[in-house]
Amino acid sequence: MMKCPNCSSKDIGKIGSHQYYCWGCFIELTVNGDKMSVYQVEEDGTLSSLDDLFFGDESMQDFSQIHLS
Ligand SMILES: [Zn+2]
Repeated sequence: MMKCPNCSSKDIGKIGSHQYYCWGCFIELTVNGDKMSVYQVEEDGTLSSLDDLFFGDESMQDFSQIHLS
């Protein structure tokens, strides 16, 4: 069962062979093998990547530091 990395909602809809949509926070998830990408759908329909927020190296380090402290 997939879980949204942004809002932890399990209300994920499949919109393509490797694409999912979170109905909790309205972001698009793309799964490519082990790699997951997150996109925000703008009002004009374009996608802007949110990968830096979730999967960037710096944010991952910050996240682990938060967990350790
Ligand atoms: Zn979500």
